[in-house]
Amino acid sequence: YQNRLKSLAGVQAMTPDGKEVELGANISSLKELEVALQVGAHGVGLFRTEFLYMDRNRFPLEEEQYDVYKTVAEQLAGKPLIIRTLDIGGDKQLDYFELEEEDNPFLGYRAIRICLDRKDLFKTQLRAILRASAYGNVKVMYPLISSVEEVRAAKAVLEEVKRELEQEGKPFNPAIENGIMIELPAAVSIADFLAEEVDFFSIGTNDLVQFALAVDRMNEKISHMYQPFHPAVLRMLKSTVEAAKRHGIHVGVCGEMAGDLRALPVWLGLNVDELSMSAHAVLPVKERLLSTCRSDSEELLERLWQCRTAEETIQLLEEFKRSAD
Ligand code: PEP
Ligand code: MG
Repeated sequence: YQNRLKSLAGVQAMTPDGKEVELGANISSLKELEVALQVGAHGVGLFRTEFLYMDRNRFPLEEEQYDVYKTVAEQLAGKPLIIRTLDIGGDKQLDYFELEEEDNPFLGYRAIRICLDRKDLFKTQLRAILRASAYGNVKVMYPLISSVEEVRAAKAVLEEVKRELEQEGKPFNPAIENGIMIELPAAVSIADFLAEEVDFFSIGTNDLVQFALAVDRMNEKISHMYQPFHPAVLRMLKSTVEAAKRHGIHVGVCGEMAGDLRALPVWLGLNVDELSMSAHAVLPVKERLLSTCRSDSEELLERLWQCRTAEETIQLLEEFKRSAD
């Protein structure tokens, strides 16, 4: 079985009825990049950059970040690389960055909120990302977006950094694509407005499930309530993808759900462009994709929208999956 999977690394990810899906890898270190390359991932759909900040006792310098981003861009040799800007706060803390204690850190000072407040940190990272964009197909993505203002503010900083680099004569891709994570219910609700501002969406189901259902993704006591297949979540996925399609922007999924075989007909039926997952999930998902028709998935979704509970939804999806086993 392992050998059969390996033989799929170079095979195009397409359903029998011709729907192509980009199967990317999520990476959070250079080590994980190796696996992504081995499995023939279409690119990196989510480069989590937190490790650069966590492995040190001070903020990483522009040169240090640039070296890493450039290395990854070069190794991907033209395949897309989506670099997500710093997503700390919540559960991820830095020893050297003293954040005040908060009653609700997940709802607090974190991610893009820190970056827009601490422009010095943000600009350093954006400079490094832009400079690396001269060496590959680099895109930039902002996490935890809740409003149009935040996207505009982030884009304004990017433009400012571009002007600086231009003045310094440092090469970068001036047409670098901008995207956002859709991982808050607010972002889902205004997805049509947000789509006017960016080149792509990537749906972060890990946080979206947590915030849609008000269930802490780390709290074991309520882990049975953490239900990616809750009808409320599925409706959010549907309306986000539809908004992206209406505006003609690229839409991917980069939460854990992207690599869940049960969810594959949901993505095919909704017609998402990209799925980015742990590198180990890429080949099993590709294998399943090669034998799952988009048309069957669309039919399944008609029934899925009628499911009242997560349990019913899962039952339907598991039946579909078994029939393909
Ligand atoms: C997500 O929230 O779904 C996601 C991909 O990002 P992270 O798991 O890093 O929060
Ligand atoms: Mg997230």
